Amino acid sequence: MELREECGVFGVTFPEKTNVAGMVYYGLYALQHRGQEGCGISVCSDGVFTSVKDVGLVSEVLTNDTMKKFSPGKTAVGHVRYGTTGGSTRMNCQPIEVNHRLGRMAIAHNGNLSNAEQLRKELELSGAIFHTTSDTEIIAYILTKEMLRGVSTEQAITESMNKLEGAYSLIIMTSDKLYAVRDPHGFRPLCFGKTADGGYAVASESCAISAVNAEFVRDVQPGEIVVFGSDGPRSVTSGCGKCLKKTCIFEYIYFARQDSVIDGIPVHESRKQAGRILAKEFPADADIVVGVPDSGIDAALGFAEESGIPYGLGLIKNKYIGRTFISPGQDNRLDRVKIKLSPVRSVISGKRVVLIDDSIVRGTTSRRIVRLLREAGAAEIHVRISSPRFLHPCYYGTDIDSEEHLIASNHSVSEICAMICADSLGFLPLETLRELTGNNEYCAACFDGKYPTPVPGDSGKDRFEQKIITND
Ligand code: SF4
Repeated sequence: MELREECGVFGVTFPEKTNVAGMVYYGLYALQHRGQEGCGISVCSDGVFTSVKDVGLVSEVLTNDTMKKFSPGKTAVGHVRYGTTGGSTRMNCQPIEVNHRLGRMAIAHNGNLSNAEQLRKELELSGAIFHTTSDTEIIAYILTKEMLRGVSTEQAITESMNKLEGAYSLIIMTSDKLYAVRDPHGFRPLCFGKTADGGYAVASESCAISAVNAEFVRDVQPGEIVVFGSDGPRSVTSGCGKCLKKTCIFEYIYFARQDSVIDGIPVHESRKQAGRILAKEFPADADIVVGVPDSGIDAALGFAEESGIPYGLGLIKNKYIGRTFISPGQDNRLDRVKIKLSPVRSVISGKRVVLIDDSIVRGTTSRRIVRLLREAGAAEIHVRISSPRFLHPCYYGTDIDSEEHLIASNHSVSEICAMICADSLGFLPLETLRELTGNNEYCAACFDGKYPTPVPGDSGKDRFEQKIITND
């Protein structure tokens, strides 16, 4: 509820020229939940690249007027942004376009590099001048340097992957091909589908593949490069030797859209399963189960199903509000949570409520929601959280903050329960996370501190070394 996503990427390629910008527009619309700070599209038409990007929602940036700038083309790539590295200015919007001696490319990136600082320093010391503060430009620089050696694009991507650490799901457009690239751990999702007229669509989530009427083909595998050329898709493994699937577990819990399927696991089912587990591990004597929209609803359905307590539509979300709503002015007398969420008094009043939310980060939002329900007449409020306690920051493209800002890092469950004014509180047990992802390996570092890659700073390095010792 207090967290924001990373970014979303979408690209298409067709055998013949068509309205590729329009297709990307619809794809980005379906991915808007992954980033609402900025967006953009780059189209390649007869080798000429045209881009439109700016801060704002898809509907604000890609208007009838701006879309007229695009000519029909065979390939296009787009991006929705929530800035986790670098600020939210226009210069950091994507796709990033690069012109070099041997060609052109446009890159859209989802994720964060965990070694961005070190790579940037090395590049700057060797003469690089950066125009943005986003780590995507670091990827663009490294890739361009490799391409300028005269190797093939896929070889250049493979070489670049050996230097990058952390999370990157990329779509790269050159003047004749589209490349889908997923980092060796596959932190962020990436998949592709096929259209009826022989085109291909690549997207962060399968919901965007469906949005453009393409048929889902498969996920891009960790460490895989899929090349889309005139002869269809061709798979290249990066050969980087570090491939070990660690899909972000929080994609299933919160980031992804409910109708998406990531690495074969439907997100909705995964969330329902979290609710069922909570009902077994932390049952409550209650009259009604209420989910905090949007991502708490699926888990609430699972809790209701398992416990036999009826689900009730006790909280309504303002449909016309983005996740990054900012109140105009500084009037703190107005409660921002109240603008986003309204309790349904007829459902809540006099009831013992089980309230399901996806996470507690700082605790402020949870406290306000509990207060809303009390004001609506709830007799008791039993809070159940469909993720474990956040104890560590994330370095892979989310804004899960430093430990000092994470309430669970500094307080016990009973202290948090008192702080949010709930009658009882239960978090999803860490050891049950596996039940959400089937046999897929996952990253849960923000919950267990076991980072799949080295992370910035001495303490992070210590943690990584500690992790290796522990695993032994
Ligand atoms: Fe996802 Fe947490 Fe891992 Fe970040 S640290 S990639 S949020 S599971």
